[in-house]
Amino acid sequence: MFLAGKRALVTGSTSGIGLAIARALHGEGAAIVLNGFGEASEIAALCEELGASHSGADLTDTAQIETMMEEAGPIDILVNNAGMQHVAPFEDFPVAKWETILALNLSAAFHTVRLAVPAMKARGWGRIINTASAHSKTASPFKSAYVAAKHGLDGLTKTVALELAPHGVTANCISPGYVWTPLVENQIPDTMAARGLTRDQVVEDVLLVKQATKKFVQPEEVGALAVFLCRDEAQNVTGANWSMDGGWTAG
Ligand code: NAD
Repeated sequence: MFLAGKRALVTGSTSGIGLAIARALHGEGAAIVLNGFGEASEIAALCEELGASHSGADLTDTAQIETMMEEAGPIDILVNNAGMQHVAPFEDFPVAKWETILALNLSAAFHTVRLAVPAMKARGWGRIINTASAHSKTASPFKSAYVAAKHGLDGLTKTVALELAPHGVTANCISPGYVWTPLVENQIPDTMAARGLTRDQVVEDVLLVKQATKKFVQPEEVGALAVFLCRDEAQNVTGANWSMDGGWTAG
């Protein structure tokens, strides 16, 4: 319970990877602030399970981010995890989707970090963990907005790491390969259309083709790495972009 007394805000934590990170941090004693969309009854059950509070802020809206950060109070561990995907050929990519993906997957982290940093600096301790992606290091066709935003998140994280290093605050990216969550499941129909493939072909020939382990990453594995990054033993891990992609970006 080495995180007892610490407060963690995990964005996009009503589902998938964010929920696994919130559970893992809670397991080490951190007080949790959840964020994300979902059925009210399911969110209430998660709040009860984790003894957490919840913000339904839409992180594509700067004003809602500011309200969430004000209501959350001083945060020791900030996990920028909320994200979305859209799959379409470049020339057909909907402009509104480009704007939304950049806002959620990149700009939201700029806003939460700028608002969380004063309290971290004041206490001389903080952990900023950004869920990036293998797509922060390498590209795939038809994912222009996502790849651009995740590469940007890597750059933002490195800059934050350098600025906050003298203050006991680390900032790192975790970059999973494919994790079986609603975000992946929901992109299968568009990928089938964009590439003219069947569902099984998308799983075997697109999603897992570059993961040498031929396994989806489990959300709990990402949660365990987030816990490690909060440990004192990780105080010199900063500005890193830690792959957890079954060997994808090694190839
Ligand atoms: P998910 O769809 O299961 O969860 C996304 C979460 O973000 C949900 O809680 C959702 O409510 C929340 N969210 C969506 N739009 C939001 C908004 N506008 N404001 C606030 N919250 C919003 O997805 P996931 O697969 O768990 O993805 C989490 C993160 O991991 C994302 O940043 C994603 O890019 C990244 N990632 C996922 C994979 C993967 O294979 N699943 C791989 C690499 C990186």
